Amino acid sequence: MRDELSHIRNYEADRRQQILMEHEKYMESLYARFPQLKKLDEQINGLKKSIISMTLARLQGRVSGQELTGLEQRMDQLRREKADLLKQFNIDPDSLQPRWNCRACSDTGWVYIDDEHAVPCQCSIEERRRLHQQAAGLPARIADASFDKVNYNLYQPQYREQARRIFEYVKQFCQELKPCSGQGLFIHGPTGSGKSYLLGCIANSLSQRMTVKYVVYADFLDSLRATYSLRDGEVTEQDLIDEVRNVDLLLLDDLGVEKPTEFALKNLAQIIDYRYRYCLPLVVTSNFTLEELIRRSQNDLYGERIAWRLSECCSKIMELKGNLRLNL
Ligand SMILES: [Zn+2]
Repeated sequence: MRDELSHIRNYEADRRQQILMEHEKYMESLYARFPQLKKLDEQINGLKKSIISMTLARLQGRVSGQELTGLEQRMDQLRREKADLLKQFNIDPDSLQPRWNCRACSDTGWVYIDDEHAVPCQCSIEERRRLHQQAAGLPARIADASFDKVNYNLYQPQYREQARRIFEYVKQFCQELKPCSGQGLFIHGPTGSGKSYLLGCIANSLSQRMTVKYVVYADFLDSLRATYSLRDGEVTEQDLIDEVRNVDLLLLDDLGVEKPTEFALKNLAQIIDYRYRYCLPLVVTSNFTLEELIRRSQNDLYGERIAWRLSECCSKIMELKGNLRLNL
């Protein structure tokens, strides 16, 4: 988690540096076209320094107030000249400032509330949320999922109450979940009953305080296979496996749609075994019940191990009914 945040901070610093460089380039070209502007800016900057040092001297009683007032009047005059010049050449005064994405914090991510204290700017809170979401790997259709936005009216009337209870239970589960608590959920139900959306809600409610990874196991197997054709230095099969093994919370969507090949089952068994041993939380959804998964895999050593491990990892088993296929 710490590494990830430092990655975000580096990203912010790089972006800020780039904007400053672009601004410097722009100012150079502007000065080349309008040397009078350059001269005025140099005078203004020189005068600024004099005013600062004279203000200090004034506080120490070394110079008179009159001398300071003289400098300030000169400053007003230079500023007026500059404003006239900008008007005359049709230069937008805003363009003389770096083009920060956020004016509130000049892209530093911090806003001063008084001389000594700064708080995170809204833009950096949003940015962090976005990057955490991105790291969770949610597909676009559930990227904005939220417990506060669930529309239970999309469920058929007979399933509404049960859906509400499940979402409320899982919301509470998220509020209480701690990393390494070994807690887990198994949610089964038909396609279109909102299981993926529920995982989206979990990811978005927790990705601020722990690392979360959303994975459809069938897609994960595809990315594992894709690593075989990669060159040195790129993400390896082991990198991908390590990530889903070690992430604080793993969300495994649609378990059972993958072909139960030995490759698929062996990898899954190792991932789930590992998380079980280290008490790492896991939430699994499937179109199959646990019993069905066990029955499906009865003749397979790995399959059976997975199903039994899941029944140990996932203390709570829930069934989500209904078919939304609508706007959720
Ligand atoms: Zn900001």
